[in-house]
Amino acid sequence: MQTLHASKCGLSTTQLPSSILDVIDSLTKAGYEAYIVGGGVRDLMLGLEPKDFDAVTNATPSQIKEVFGRRCRIIGRRFELAHVYSGRELIEVATFRAPPKKAVTSASGMILRDNNWGSIEEDFVRRDFSINAMYYQPRKGIVLDFCNAIDDIKSKTLRLLGDPTLRFEEDPVRMLRTLRFAAKLNFSIDPAILKVFTPELTMLLRDVSPHRLYDESQKLFTMGHLNRVMPMLIEFGIWKQLFADIPPVINPFMERAAKNTDQRIQMGKTINPAFFYAVLLWKPFLERCEFYANKGTVAAEARAQAGLDVLKRQATRTIIPRFAETFIREVWEMQTRLLNPKPQQIQALSSHARFRAGFDFMLLREKSGDETTQGMGIWWESYQVMSNDEKERAIGQYNRQRNKSRRKASSAEQVPEEQVSARIEPLVKETESRSRRSRKPAAQPYENNRDSRGGRAPVAQVEPGTIHADHPILKRRRVQRDLKQVVFGPTQ
Ligand code: ATP
Ligand code: MG
Repeated sequence: MQTLHASKCGLSTTQLPSSILDVIDSLTKAGYEAYIVGGGVRDLMLGLEPKDFDAVTNATPSQIKEVFGRRCRIIGRRFELAHVYSGRELIEVATFRAPPKKAVTSASGMILRDNNWGSIEEDFVRRDFSINAMYYQPRKGIVLDFCNAIDDIKSKTLRLLGDPTLRFEEDPVRMLRTLRFAAKLNFSIDPAILKVFTPELTMLLRDVSPHRLYDESQKLFTMGHLNRVMPMLIEFGIWKQLFADIPPVINPFMERAAKNTDQRIQMGKTINPAFFYAVLLWKPFLERCEFYANKGTVAAEARAQAGLDVLKRQATRTIIPRFAETFIREVWEMQTRLLNPKPQQIQALSSHARFRAGFDFMLLREKSGDETTQGMGIWWESYQVMSNDEKERAIGQYNRQRNKSRRKASSAEQVPEEQVSARIEPLVKETESRSRRSRKPAAQPYENNRDSRGGRAPVAQVEPGTIHADHPILKRRRVQRDLKQVVFGPTQ
């Protein structure tokens, strides 16, 4: 272990928000050890702006609760830690952890519970990468470096602590973290990791809850280097584990949307992480629409059903929260509305809550060479910056063109008279609740398999012989992971 001078590492208390100093000071005053650890220290050393600061201490969660009282909430089961509120900020405070006891790891080596308290030396070994395992005590002005992490910072190398295969088995999410940090920091990946990081090993991600994988996917989308990480996800075989039906090929639309997302983050603009899911799933959605259209389903119903189907299949990998699913389906539905709006609806459409996202989506499609938008992306772009008079003229012109093409079409086939109404129908009709949906496909594997909360827990899809049938990993609440079991068709 070496003790580094914080000032020599480019660290100073002036860079720290008062919230993290408050947490460190309160714990120290109560007689505990407390450090800043993880991404905050790493990013400051690299001259980057940290996303947040995490603290670590020798106080147990209940002792942390005693120090901070009502400002503290203990969260997590697998990984228990304290959330401390300081002003408007939230600081995650973890307790030093020792290696987990044998009984709480799965047969494949995954850690199911990790709440065994320990010393700082033991805690260090449990962290993932050397660069994430530096302990900064801002008041003492020191950094504890147990593994010469400072050299990895200097040589820009991502190095896992311990044996890479074991570390990936313990927590397969570390594979995603490897690619995220390599892309975010522009670090090279240690050859010892590259040697074991095979597509076969990524199969371990099937054991990770789709909720956790959704959270991780969000971090990948919002770290500011999405365009850089996408080919890496494909190269390392992670893509197939994260996305059920999206072929591992980056099409121009995805690339443009990824670059756009990165640029927005660089400019400090907000992004809705569900937007990129809408991009990724757009092609599977269109294919599914076509499937229903070929069966003779009317277009609106086909779109509604296709949207549900595609999201249902994706949920076998990453569970997209209900509000985000609704957002995605609304963005897709907006594509139809924006493509062929009724003239009297144009004004109302442009002030619709989902207009901006729908329009951005359409413009990205158009600019990446998708001709099916028929130039309407640009049309809406110019419409938005027009004066009221110009808007009226533009709508008039649009109406004339529309009538002309409709007349042409109706000479071939009679077009039914559309309802003339300026009212905009809801974009997405909620068909059923999440709980009903998830209970519905009560296929055979769900029988006689109730979890501790009394809910139905499907049997995990594992290779025969890898995990014993009564192993704890199989008793956890899980969603369907096998696409063959996802039931399609009308859900009503
Ligand atoms: P970010 O910039 O994304 O916040 P971070 O390194 O701070 O990066 P966190 O997820 O906030 O990442 O975790 C804080 C620290 O906790 C990490 O730096 C690492 O030391 C430890 N850690 C987090 N996840 C894991 C994991 N899966 N395995 C081992 N250690 C982990
Ligand atoms: Mg962090």
